[in-house]
Amino acid sequence: AKRDGRNGFRFYTPDMTVEVRQRVMMMDELREAIEKQQFLLHFQPQVCLTTGEVIGAEALVRWMHPEKGLIPPNDFIPYAESSGQIAQIGEWVLMEACTKMSEWRAQGYNLRKVAVNISNQQLRRKSLVMLVKQALADTKCQPETLELEITESTLMQNPEDMVEELVQLKALGVSLAIDDFGTGYSSLSYLKQLPINKLKIDRSFVRDLDVDENDRAITRAIIALGKSLNLTVIAEGVEYASQVSFLASEQCEQIQGYLYSKPLPEEAFLAYLKEHKSR
Ligand code: C2E
Ligand code: CA
Ligand code: CA
Ligand code: CA
Repeated sequence: AKRDGRNGFRFYTPDMTVEVRQRVMMMDELREAIEKQQFLLHFQPQVCLTTGEVIGAEALVRWMHPEKGLIPPNDFIPYAESSGQIAQIGEWVLMEACTKMSEWRAQGYNLRKVAVNISNQQLRRKSLVMLVKQALADTKCQPETLELEITESTLMQNPEDMVEELVQLKALGVSLAIDDFGTGYSSLSYLKQLPINKLKIDRSFVRDLDVDENDRAITRAIIALGKSLNLTVIAEGVEYASQVSFLASEQCEQIQGYLYSKPLPEEAFLAYLKEHKSR
């Protein structure tokens, strides 16, 4: 097969394995999806545990495939990461989230923050700071209403290099959250140096809070760590009232999960906001 620059293989040969074939097809389909902008965002409310108010929303990308319908991110983001196409998808997500936030605020919705997932590849590109700056300017989105979620494993792959990058992002006025916290072996000394605002307790710890003493211990420790570093702590993947009780007893501040709402298309999300009042 022939290479087509950094976009990968151009056509298929019989000697390709099924897996390689699948990757190549995915890459071609993604290229088309990017050209035709076949993506959309869903928004999942983030709720204040004590008041029940919606304080933010996480923007989560979906692929509107012309034949296959709505494709969840776990089925294409990993491919896009390895092909490099995540850069273009991520840029679209950032622009779209900022555009929506700006529109909603102009319409009088008082949502405090929209959170956008930043992939490993995106963070490693030197242009991310410029991109975020441009997106804010182009959409007239107020920086303090944008939050960037970066996974713990991405941050801790190269923490020395991350400090400067994050400092520059932070200087734009946006806030920074560490996603999937607890799964990535943070170095506590780096954690202290990083200009972050929020820890998101990974769903894997939240899931079995009712039955697993270890998960309770880890969750308790993360909340305590967050408090001592002056960070907001949010638990993700909350599905049961019993999990909320435990999180409340440990004074976790925010929660996100199916118990409150699944990620919603824009219209349904705005209806949810109206019903649940944000501030
Ligand atoms: P994530 O950043 O950890 O996002 C949370 C995922 O957990 C979302 O899945 C959300 O729908 C799901 N979730 C939320 N509450 C619950 C719950 O109570 N129970 C269960 N079982 N699941 C819950 P989703 O939307 O399928 O996204 C999966 C992953 O795809 C995200 O995980 C993130 O890593 C990635 N992703 C999504 N959108 C983007 C994006 O715009 N850019 C990048 N780079 N990655 C994205
Ligand atoms: Ca996330
Ligand atoms: Ca997460
Ligand atoms: Ca995750």
